[in-house]
Amino acid sequence: MPAYAMNNCKLPKGLCREISSGMAKFWWGEEDKGRKLWRIMSQPNLLVSRILKSRYYKGKSLWEMEPKPSDSWMWRSLLSSRYVLELGIRKRIGDGKIVNIRNDRWLPEERNGKVRTIRTGKIRVQKCLRRVLPINEVVLKITGKGSPMCNRCGEVVETIEHMLFMCDKTALTWKAAPLQWDGLEGFRHSFWHWWEELMQATKREDGRDHIVLTSNLLWQIWKARNERHFNGAEGDPFLPVNKTVEEWKEYQEATRSQGEEERRRTGEKTDCETWKPPEQGSIKLNTDAAFNRNMMKAGWGIATRDNRGRLLATWAVPRLCSRNVKMEEAMAIRRAVELATLEGWERVQIESDSKEIVEKLMKKDWNDKWIGMILEDISRMSCFFKKCCFSFVKRNCNFVSHSLAHFAINCCENTSWRTPSLPG
Ligand SMILES: [Zn+2]
Repeated sequence: MPAYAMNNCKLPKGLCREISSGMAKFWWGEEDKGRKLWRIMSQPNLLVSRILKSRYYKGKSLWEMEPKPSDSWMWRSLLSSRYVLELGIRKRIGDGKIVNIRNDRWLPEERNGKVRTIRTGKIRVQKCLRRVLPINEVVLKITGKGSPMCNRCGEVVETIEHMLFMCDKTALTWKAAPLQWDGLEGFRHSFWHWWEELMQATKREDGRDHIVLTSNLLWQIWKARNERHFNGAEGDPFLPVNKTVEEWKEYQEATRSQGEEERRRTGEKTDCETWKPPEQGSIKLNTDAAFNRNMMKAGWGIATRDNRGRLLATWAVPRLCSRNVKMEEAMAIRRAVELATLEGWERVQIESDSKEIVEKLMKKDWNDKWIGMILEDISRMSCFFKKCCFSFVKRNCNFVSHSLAHFAINCCENTSWRTPSLPG
């Protein structure tokens, strides 16, 4: 049903004054109502959604509900956060049977998603976007104060596009990002067009995840810009990327803990493990493979981090023709070992979420007709390190390589990035 709640750049102007805390809270805050409401709307089968629905809005749309004095504080506060989602959520048309063209929110480009007769929505959103991000160019226009120039490079007017993409150090940030959207480079002269193109990715497998990651990165770039602007703190250009990955982890965990709550009720086992950094002096390589049965394509994802949890480099490797997911998992591990050799790392720890493969590697069991030879290769190569060990990790602790692998399926070429040694 909802398509664009991830669109954190379309915010109502009332939020401008709270832009920093508001936007952050909407996405990642502990107590954020917007996300809770979003969960209730997007996951109608959650227990909490069912309870609220039967109690407060049975047979009606959440959008139509008026708060009543007898409602609980929680419900009223949830309703009051609808405006946060209002600009983002749209009904999918599907076959059109469930959409009321007059009254439903279905137009992705309209401010409130509804049909309007006068003025185009796009211009308004554009204005809204411009107003939401008070970059120097806009501040000068509205207040007549300040310099329109970019404080960072001092060379050009600070436009949204300059701030988010073009400024030389921001360009470095994008180079380090797990998702770079190279295909969209041509749209960078107009943020709005770029955003529209980005939204096309919702149709892809995992597209929404990629958009969430990207939205967060934009947001982190903007926050870093404000840190510089108001506190004079010139941060490391790779910080926004690290923060994005960190917050992505939190987001995954937050989503997972909802699921856990459900499982606890239904008696399923829970797990509360997270990714753990390797011991000092070691590098951890997380590997994963993704497989698309319809296209017979696969992708490998490899993420490497040091003992502080800092991402050092990632690789996304598309596999244009693939038969077997187990083989892909094994080959992703083999590639990780190769890459570690090429990097000259001496102590490595390699993690995979394939329990079977890790067990076979530890038992030195090469009897599998599909992967036996690959495992033998891996074992032989692992002798070249001072230390090389393999471990199994639950899928939810392996999300960086998991999302890289899914990203790789849609790539045509190998994509890698590394955190360059930091200046100073
Ligand atoms: Zn600049």
